[in-house]
Amino acid sequence: MRADKFYHSKVWKDLSRAVLAKANYKCAFCGGLAVEVHHVKEIRTDWDRRLDPENLMPLCTACHNRQRHRG
Ligand SMILES: [Zn+2]
Ligand SMILES: [Zn+2]
Repeated sequence: MRADKFYHSKVWKDLSRAVLAKANYKCAFCGGLAVEVHHVKEIRTDWDRRLDPENLMPLCTACHNRQRHRG
């Protein structure tokens, strides 16, 4: 599936790292240590916004797990 492929791509790894660094590794929900970047609009439903900074959110693992999705 292209979404899975995307999450393993260099472009995503580079971008998500940049998003985390820009946010000072602060979770957008709880202020904890952000380690993952979440797509507000899932890329499976909104593929065109997969690299849109407005669609990205740095989250800690706990907050990310609370989102009803995978990825
Ligand atoms: Zn959090
Ligand atoms: Zn997510």
